[in-house]
Amino acid sequence: MSTSVMSDAMMIPAANLTIEATDVESVKCDCCGLTEECTLEYIERIRERYLGQWMCGLCGEAVKDEIVRSKRLISTEEAMARHVSFCRASISSGPPVDPTVSLIATVRQILRRKS
Ligand SMILES: [Zn+2]
Repeated sequence: MSTSVMSDAMMIPAANLTIEATDVESVKCDCCGLTEECTLEYIERIRERYLGQWMCGLCGEAVKDEIVRSKRLISTEEAMARHVSFCRASISSGPPVDPTVSLIATVRQILRRKS
């Protein structure tokens, strides 16, 4: 009996625990340019949702917001196009801004829309 207990303990593959944690990739938002570290599985899932493009969490929220705000039913694609053009416009208007500043501007815009 005691030998089987020992072999059970040895069967736990220690390597499996580290694979998930290291399986991350740095990915840049196709819209605002924000770079995030995400797992490949998550990146895949988001890309599927956004027609092969990567949207950061904030832009994803903004796209959802576009759909909710729209008076008629719009597709994810259309909502994305709206948000991307809005995002690009806010980036190109005024002096060059770093991603953090444009991010703040986007958040402000979202908050303003919701209030
Ligand atoms: Zn973004």
